[in-house]
Amino acid sequence: MAYLGNPARTKEIINKYHLSAQKKFGQNFLIDTSVLEDIVSAAGITKDDTVLEIGPGIGTLTQYLAEAAGHVIAVEIDDKLLPVLEDTLSEYDNTKVLNSDILEVDIKALSEAENNGKPFKVVANLPYYITTPIIMKLLEAGSPVESITVMVQKEVADRMQEKEGSKEYGALSIAVQYYSDPRVVCVVPPSSFIPQPGVDSAVIKMTRYEQMPVEVEDEAFFFQVVKAAFSQRRKTLVNGLSNNKELGVSKDMAGDALEKIGRSRTERGEKLSLEEFGRLSDVLIELKK
Ligand code: SAM
Repeated sequence: MAYLGNPARTKEIINKYHLSAQKKFGQNFLIDTSVLEDIVSAAGITKDDTVLEIGPGIGTLTQYLAEAAGHVIAVEIDDKLLPVLEDTLSEYDNTKVLNSDILEVDIKALSEAENNGKPFKVVANLPYYITTPIIMKLLEAGSPVESITVMVQKEVADRMQEKEGSKEYGALSIAVQYYSDPRVVCVVPPSSFIPQPGVDSAVIKMTRYEQMPVEVEDEAFFFQVVKAAFSQRRKTLVNGLSNNKELGVSKDMAGDALEKIGRSRTERGEKLSLEEFGRLSDVLIELKK
């Protein structure tokens, strides 16, 4: 089996199996060998690693991963691709394909079953319609994931890296930067895929922190605060926080908490750094007691 990472081989497979790229599953197949090489090299995979791939598609990236890693577990939602993967991965005895929705997979149980409980390196050309829920699932506390090297929409990669004060800074930036150190590896044009997506893409690597850069008293409450702060972008933080019933924070309480961390009562969420959100959430917990 020759490598798939070129337009002719990909078209051959698509024709052989009468496939049509499923829009509902975000299927855009990679056909650019230099991008495939960049992804694998950025992920820093060795034969000691077990890679978790999300959405192997027709197996293009999976072949590269199988060459570099000890084992590859690939989770694919589209059962029409299973016979294709059986064919394209037939030469690799270190790959296993699971037919599941990644959002339904218990990653901790998977690492216990397939990797002696050790963390995975996640590598994927992600389906763009569910990028954020997948990233959040992989990052959240307790997920056995060492690093995440993924293709996403360029605009989403930018948001993941943004700092306070910028227009794109939001709940996703804070979550990604709370758990990991994000770095953009390369920007990828639509011409690197079949079919071509309507936007530029980027490969981003998130290396998970062993020790979080910000310590918070209650992680779940911290994320509730962040979500409430950005749910009504044009409103002040005081309004955003007090309008969220789940938080149980009054206008006065929110204003007092902002002053306690050295900010004005009329401040907006996009001005606060990750560290300030951490302090704000801790102060709110104190005031609620
Ligand atoms: N890895 C292939 C490549 O690079 O050419 C395909 C990438 S394509 C952008 C996204 C893949 O994710 C598709 O194969 C799609 O069927 C799969 N997918 C979509 N939603 C999924 C989900 N919830 N769980 C697992 N796989 C999913």
